[in-house]
Amino acid sequence: MSAKIIDGKAIAATIRGEIKAEVEAMKAQYNKVPGLAAVLVGERRDSQTYVRMKKRACAEVGITSFGYDLPGDTSQEDLLEVVRELNANPDVHGILVQLPLPDHIDEEEILGAISLEKDVDGFHPLNIGRLSMKRRDPLFVPCTPKGCIELLDRTGVEIEGKRAVVLGRSNIVGLPVAMLLLHRNATLTICHSRTKDLPSVVREADILVAAVGRPEMVRGDWVKPGVVVIDVGVNAVDDPTREKGYRLVGDVAFDEVKEVAAAITPVPGGVGPMTIAMLLRNTLDSAKRALGME
Ligand code: NDP
Repeated sequence: MSAKIIDGKAIAATIRGEIKAEVEAMKAQYNKVPGLAAVLVGERRDSQTYVRMKKRACAEVGITSFGYDLPGDTSQEDLLEVVRELNANPDVHGILVQLPLPDHIDEEEILGAISLEKDVDGFHPLNIGRLSMKRRDPLFVPCTPKGCIELLDRTGVEIEGKRAVVLGRSNIVGLPVAMLLLHRNATLTICHSRTKDLPSVVREADILVAAVGRPEMVRGDWVKPGVVVIDVGVNAVDDPTREKGYRLVGDVAFDEVKEVAAAITPVPGGVGPMTIAMLLRNTLDSAKRALGME
């Protein structure tokens, strides 16, 4: 039997619609709209694309975006000054510093300088620390991990009591998604590059989240029948039949695993669209908090 395909594109569109309605209601009641500042340092093409996509998504739901495109040789102090200005600007409810930053910048210091109340990416050390502790709610949860849980919730997947296996332990995806699953009372295993006999660990999963960045690593015979698979991986593989010469695949061999799984996210069109939707949601929540609406 073929798995249910979890349509992240459609779910993200629904969420953006919900956010747009809430922004309109905020404007009607308070004459205010949420504001998101995106700070870009340097000229990385992929980062420019991500920031452009985020600004476009803001415009679509009525969130004001503030863009800061700084040269690649911006000093630590100048970048800190921009963050401080944004911290003080009452029209800015979310500050997003696009990662990765150039090598000469101390990323941890910059992320730590963002006001806790405006840390919509959820990477402030205090927010991450709270996420890692029991009964300490972070003000914001990182967007991609939050999007993974939202996909499970909106697909009606019960998390409590399930065996969850997370592949990857990065600060951006693997670790925070694991913490979120733990908070939701899953029994958790985190795997990484030193894990022995990965297929046998993966086979225990009722819920599998793959975030390793290895094209189609998880094969059909690695998974248990009925597993729910969230594939975070985005990998470009050569494909001469495509105009661009490549196509995107996940960390999971979709065609094989969908024959065994109960539900699975595609790549593209699964987790990807959720990340920006969650950024908009975090920005809206921040503005609501600033207005005392929560
Ligand atoms: P990182 O490279 O930071 O982390 C990869 C993790 O996978 C590490 O923990 C690493 O282990 C582990 N790993 C690598 N190879 C193996 C292996 N052979 N077996 C088991 N574990 C392995 O990647 P990210 O977390 O930043 O991203 C993961 C994927 O998710 C990428 O494809 C990325 O493009 C995608 N992504 C997608 C997003 C979206 O919006 N859809 C957003 C962010 C990322 P170790 O710790 O031991 O090195």
